[in-house]
Amino acid sequence: MRIGVYPGSFDPTTNGHLDIIKRSAKLVDKLIVGVLHNSAKQPLFSIDERVMLLEELTKDMDNVEVCTFSGLLVDFLKEKEANIIIRGFRAVSDFEYELQIAQTNYSMNNNIETICLITRVEYSFLSASIVKEIARYGGDISKMAPKETIDLLNKKFNINN
Ligand code: ADP
Repeated sequence: MRIGVYPGSFDPTTNGHLDIIKRSAKLVDKLIVGVLHNSAKQPLFSIDERVMLLEELTKDMDNVEVCTFSGLLVDFLKEKEANIIIRGFRAVSDFEYELQIAQTNYSMNNNIETICLITRVEYSFLSASIVKEIARYGGDISKMAPKETIDLLNKKFNINN
């Protein structure tokens, strides 16, 4: 069985993330979306909020599961008996970072392969930070994030639409 892990902060989930989830779920038998619990970072949404949102967004995807993890990604993969890491690739600026972590993970466990999916052109400029920034000032994010994410952001920033 091919089990893949798509790790990230998902603070919050954007259309770019969702697209990678849908496409990578077709490449593996089971896809685990791993929501990173990083105590050094100050996310906008709590780990529970991020997981609940992802669970709602993936509820109709039969082979997708949402889990949290902290610590080393390779240890999380081992725990889940997974050996594929899925990453999204937006622009050249992602390259150096993705190359470094893929090679590091490979050096820690050479059974692990990283698959980078190239983003769809309409999502290539999209990041969770940009979506949060626009939403904070009441801008239009309807093409950048699903309705469930927009509702959560509006609630967080007390915006009534
Ligand atoms: P962000 O960079 O938006 O804060 P994460 O840290 O949660 O997102 O990233 C998790 C993974 O999703 C990374 O591999 C990242 O490159 C990928 N990703 C994020 N946004 C997009 C997008 N718009 N298109 C494709 N992949 C993306």
